[in-house]
Amino acid sequence: MGNSDDFERATTLAGHAMDRLQAEGLAPIPENFTLFYAYYGGQFPDLTRAVDIARRDGGGLSQAHCDELFKRFFTLDAEAQAIREASERARMALGKILEMLNSVGTETNRYGTALAGFQGELEQPMSLEDLRAMVAAIAAETTAIVERQTRLQTQLLDSSQQLAEMRVSLDSARREAMTDGLTGIANRKAFDLALSEAAREAVADGQPMALLMVDIDHFKAFNDTHGHLVGDHVLRLVAKVLTECIKGRDTAARFGGEEFAIILPRTGLRNALTVAEQVRVSVGTRQIINRARNVSYGTVTLSVGVAEYQPGETLTDLIRRADAALYAAKRGGRNRVSGDVQT
Ligand code: GH3
Ligand code: MG
Ligand code: MG
Repeated sequence: MGNSDDFERATTLAGHAMDRLQAEGLAPIPENFTLFYAYYGGQFPDLTRAVDIARRDGGGLSQAHCDELFKRFFTLDAEAQAIREASERARMALGKILEMLNSVGTETNRYGTALAGFQGELEQPMSLEDLRAMVAAIAAETTAIVERQTRLQTQLLDSSQQLAEMRVSLDSARREAMTDGLTGIANRKAFDLALSEAAREAVADGQPMALLMVDIDHFKAFNDTHGHLVGDHVLRLVAKVLTECIKGRDTAARFGGEEFAIILPRTGLRNALTVAEQVRVSVGTRQIINRARNVSYGTVTLSVGVAEYQPGETLTDLIRRADAALYAAKRGGRNRVSGDVQT
């Protein structure tokens, strides 16, 4: 039954969506169709509002409008998607809790009124029989409210359990959104966040902070010789070694492609150069092997550029200086570390 309902409903929604595309003079491309199917389905009140507003203000919906709406509502990254789902679930859980609390209020009021009624009656002279009946009635009212409160408590526990589960799934979605899929270390987004946090702290604490930009040497040639899968294996290996070379509050991230970055809070240029050298040596002395096939692909080397944060400079400038140092290392012959000389 559910299935045929779903089928009928889907057919109706699809019909509305197609009619609407035609009426608006919009191309029946999947993106436009998705937009209006969801619009008629009504499951995203924000989308419905956005479409209605765009229509009212502009007279009709242009393709540009549709592109923007599609992008906004259907091409969310994992994090935004998780947040939207979780906030929808949180909204429902909170609604349920509020409803329960409201019902507590009503029940308690009712109980209070009943008790007040009994109190009034007690002021009148009454027979033993009446008194017995009244005590029984009070006991019944009390049992009833205790039962309701117990049920309510269970429901509240249930809701809070749901909220707790939601938090766990949000945490893991957040972690996923901050992790590079190939190497498992911080991705570019996490790097950007960590760098601005490190800069903020450096300014607040008056401590130095350093940035390492790391690039694999001649990686294109390595890929061409051994294939991209072996190349991917090298990226994972480099990420692992980078992680082993840092500690505590340091962050190793994949900056993009075959470039990595390391953020070193509370570290000046001299110590940062030492870490960079450790990283370079650790990777450069590691044999790349495929154990299953018992083959060795030799080694890869790294060039590293190091810059110390100058309080007040933009993070773009800091990255640019570390990058300039990296390219100095490349020009100097690769497999080396270079520090930014600007002061
Ligand atoms: P250089 O020493 O100047 O850095 O030379 P290079 O060959 O390393 O630099 P180039 O920028 O010319 O090439 C970078 C290569 O990195 C090209 C691309 O095939 C490879 N690469 C980027 N991302 C990935 C990836 O995710 N997996 C693999 N296997 N290779 C990647
Ligand atoms: Mg390279
Ligand atoms: Mg590169």
